[in-house]
Amino acid sequence: MTPFAKAIVTWYDAYGRKNLPWQQNKTAYSVWLSEIMLQQTQVATVIPYYQRFLERFPSVVDLANAEQDEVLHLWTGLGYYARARNLHKAAKIVAAEYQGEFPTDIEQLNALPGIGRSTAAAILSSVYKQPHAILDGNVKRTLARCFAVEGWPGQKKVENQLWQYAEQHTPARDTDKYNQAMMDMGAMVCTRSKPKCTLCPVEQLCLATKQGNPLDYPGKKPKKDKPVKETWFVMLHYQGEIWLEQRPQTGIWGGLFCFPQNETADIQTQLDRLQITTMDIKRREQLIAFRHTFSHYHLDITPILLDLSKQPDVIMEGSKGLWYNLSQPEEVGLAAPVKQLLESLPFELQ
Ligand code: SF4
Repeated sequence: MTPFAKAIVTWYDAYGRKNLPWQQNKTAYSVWLSEIMLQQTQVATVIPYYQRFLERFPSVVDLANAEQDEVLHLWTGLGYYARARNLHKAAKIVAAEYQGEFPTDIEQLNALPGIGRSTAAAILSSVYKQPHAILDGNVKRTLARCFAVEGWPGQKKVENQLWQYAEQHTPARDTDKYNQAMMDMGAMVCTRSKPKCTLCPVEQLCLATKQGNPLDYPGKKPKKDKPVKETWFVMLHYQGEIWLEQRPQTGIWGGLFCFPQNETADIQTQLDRLQITTMDIKRREQLIAFRHTFSHYHLDITPILLDLSKQPDVIMEGSKGLWYNLSQPEEVGLAAPVKQLLESLPFELQ
């Protein structure tokens, strides 16, 4: 074991997290579920979602047999919905092609939707003690600082360098403990904005600390101004119900339910499509516009609420729609701004 790995593992024995729900009665299924949920999401947020998921889908086959709407519904609030869609796709493959058992070969596991090299390694090392290195965001940060790896890890060259350090220091024995320790180190000690260097087991080895500039690592993504796009939400309300349509599987909010959307303030095309005449509209109100930010652009959303005097006979072509009952909500996945708007509707509509 390298001195770096030794210090990390010793620290883990004393301070690492050992009581997280996914660390008990580990299976490839439960560890996989937690790994996917923990991508871009904090432990405290993940715990209740993880518990609800396992309760509803005790096995990967139960998850594979579920409707996508239910999976997205249980995911609502966790964000990054591609993770939920890939989770469901991967479960179907494991059920159909691997008889409900996750493959134990890293290449086969890596090939499943939503599972990258690091996630596959985390699952196999944690459950089967296979000696694979991991490199998630926490590990990248600690390694970049300790070994003063310059540049943004989104660049292949920098990422490859970090993989080299990860491989070099991951021990063949106690790999499960070391990998968990590295994740804990990044989450608890070598944190993004306030690393606790005086409590760090590798402080003596850390080049960034010697240089006095840990916060310069890892390098930042080169800044580009995000473009701003606009959209108008057409919110049809009739007697305590709101019309929602399922979005296509690809693109933003894939497979989630959303209000009909329009590219301009003139929503007549949408009204024509939905066969709504001015006679059918009791009240029209433009709600306060707000901004939703994606990784690549900002979306300025203006909601237009139309209170109808009769329920239109909406015919959908190729996708699903539903009248969402505000007092008895359907269990479907909702795009985050849709959920936010539904929760803030005036009381008299609910
Ligand atoms: S000494 Fe500080 S910067 Fe270096 S690895 Fe430890 S916590 Fe991170």
